[in-house]
Amino acid sequence: MLQQTQVARVIEFYPRFLQRYPTLEDLASAPADGVRESWGGLGYYARARNLHAAVRRIVAESGGRVPQSPVELARLPGIGAYTAGAVASLAFGAAVPAVDTNVARVLGRVFGLRGAAQRSRRMRRVWVLAAALVPPRRAADWNQALMDLGALVCTARAPRCPVCPVRGVCATRPRVEERGRAGAARAFPRSGALRSPRT
Ligand code: SF4
Repeated sequence: MLQQTQVARVIEFYPRFLQRYPTLEDLASAPADGVRESWGGLGYYARARNLHAAVRRIVAESGGRVPQSPVELARLPGIGAYTAGAVASLAFGAAVPAVDTNVARVLGRVFGLRGAAQRSRRMRRVWVLAAALVPPRRAADWNQALMDLGALVCTARAPRCPVCPVRGVCATRPRVEERGRAGAARAFPRSGALRSPRT
């Protein structure tokens, strides 16, 4: 639900959806029209279709056991590298990275990755860096902290370097201080350039 939709809006729908489908089996056995109706108002119905298809597969093939590894999760409909990493680390504590647009921007700026002509290579470097940095015992906290840092402090248009907790090791901070927002944007471009090749 949170893909492309803000938390404040999802909060209205999430409890109602869970009330209607309290178990995976309930959702798996529901007709497609009913699921779509339950999703009404949230938009992006492909998410509902993919969720429904994924849950049906989990129930049919795994007896309702949700896969815990990112590799298995990424085989389900609608789940790419980021979602697989987020579910594996946040729900199951797996020590794996979860690189969304915000995380890619933070790591790209901290490590000074540049080169718009090499976006796919740069994204591979971001994933390699993210995997190397995940602390084995606190992967969920780490991934959530990186996401929040990108969403609240190291934003695309206006990075707040003076209050940033990683300012002391950031390769881009001097550029931002010297050139302002334009320096950060040039050092690591905004969202369109940052999609994972697997999502
Ligand atoms: S110091 Fe500035 S550019 Fe570097 S990560 Fe923090 S907010 Fe972003």
